[in-house]
Amino acid sequence: MLQTTAREIADLTGGALVGGATGDEIVTGTAAIDSRDVGPGDLFAAFDGEHVDGHDYLGAARDAGAALALVATDHDIPAVQVDDVRAALSALARAQLTRARRQNPQLVVLAVTGSAGKTGTKDLLGAILGASGPTVAPVGSLNNELGLPLTVLRLSAETRFLVLEMGARGIGHIAQLTAIARPDIALVLNVGSAHLGEFGGVDAIAQAKGELVEALAPHGRAILNAEDRLVAGMAPRSAAPVVTWGFTTGDVRGAGLRLDEQARVSFSLEVPEGLTTLDGDAVSPGSFPVSPDLLGEHQAANVLAALTAALVAGVEPAAAAATLEGATLASAQRMQALRAGGVLIIDDAYNANPDSMKQALKTLAHLGRSHRTVAVLGEMLELGPDSVRLHDEIGRLVVRLNIGQLYVVGTGAAPIHHGASLEGSFGGESEHLDTVDEAIAVLEQTVRPGDAVLLKSSRDAELRRIAGPLVEHL
Ligand code: ATP
Ligand code: MG
Repeated sequence: MLQTTAREIADLTGGALVGGATGDEIVTGTAAIDSRDVGPGDLFAAFDGEHVDGHDYLGAARDAGAALALVATDHDIPAVQVDDVRAALSALARAQLTRARRQNPQLVVLAVTGSAGKTGTKDLLGAILGASGPTVAPVGSLNNELGLPLTVLRLSAETRFLVLEMGARGIGHIAQLTAIARPDIALVLNVGSAHLGEFGGVDAIAQAKGELVEALAPHGRAILNAEDRLVAGMAPRSAAPVVTWGFTTGDVRGAGLRLDEQARVSFSLEVPEGLTTLDGDAVSPGSFPVSPDLLGEHQAANVLAALTAALVAGVEPAAAAATLEGATLASAQRMQALRAGGVLIIDDAYNANPDSMKQALKTLAHLGRSHRTVAVLGEMLELGPDSVRLHDEIGRLVVRLNIGQLYVVGTGAAPIHHGASLEGSFGGESEHLDTVDEAIAVLEQTVRPGDAVLLKSSRDAELRRIAGPLVEHL
């Protein structure tokens, strides 16, 4: 945070100084909602959550060096008491950003949205921009009305680039986030089937994601996927100029996209004449080779998207491409390549929906040229009434892609097994396993050198617990 006193925080949030706070306490660090994350000079925000009440940890936060707490009830520790801690954090974040922009006109705020790949793309932007100036782009998926203010509150006086992930589970959600942090650069990746159950249809998802470009001021820039009809169609909703990217069409191109025998992507970044940065400077045109350690064509799209946004933010293309050489994502379990005992494990168990399942399976199928392929798939949650059919289709896709071995884990994922069984014979086999522990035991028995193993499910289906023991075993 920019240095702020308790009195200023009380004024900004409409709160009261309590617990012996004088108003002169100074917050110099960041804001934290977990007392274990608190460091000297931080602001500890006490949330009364589902499982724990942050107010029980005020003492721990103070012992860890918290300069001040933000509370809903008075606990005899210097604090600002407010009616709604979440709303207070948002108000604080908004005010901090306004102040930071005034103090540092160089500050560029980039926001990423889309159905899939936000966190990965945010990580890539963090890497590219971080090589060119002080950047805030925290690890993980802090994309909601709580994570976003916490990210903004990591700003310091030196910050040059602030990278924000914005998620939406309904119409109006992104508008709420842009009201806290209005972006200079708005990047929309794709509109797909993630959270379809909650939205009811892809047009509604496009409506919701497009709120990001609607938040742009005329001096900003919308960065849109030229190859996604619903994303490209957002252009008229932007008051700012639009720059598109794509592999077959678009302003900034990825040419010669290929996957090597390990399914790692590479392509050539093609920067056209006439591309300008936010400041109006010309971006150097030309071709720049890009080869990160990232697996699958869908990751290439995110790389190209991040590069395009970084160029507009003012990073030279040669420098941006060089930073990505051999790069991995800071946030784990998104097509994360783990290599042990001659086995390639792709841990993609952070989340799952039909689109990201298809992309991951296509990547696994590519590996079939040089590996025995094993797909370990769990339930995709939040799909609404079409859930059974969508799982069934994934099973059929596994057969069509000729994956060597399919393990379907858990009751909710069973329709994948049914679909695979009904689709007809293929070179491989399908087996249904009841639990994740059973899957770990079977994999430890059957996986052997030369295998490529994909682990994928929604987070709560827990396939993320598999990679650790399996790597250990190998
Ligand atoms: P969340 O909504 O949970 O925050 P997210 O948008 O941040 O998700 P990531 O966590 O980056 O997305 O990636 C989630 C999954 O989507 C991963 O399996 C990743 O490989 C996959 N994915 C990434 N980009 C794409 C894409 N363009 N198309 C399909 N799947 C993708
Ligand atoms: Mg995310």
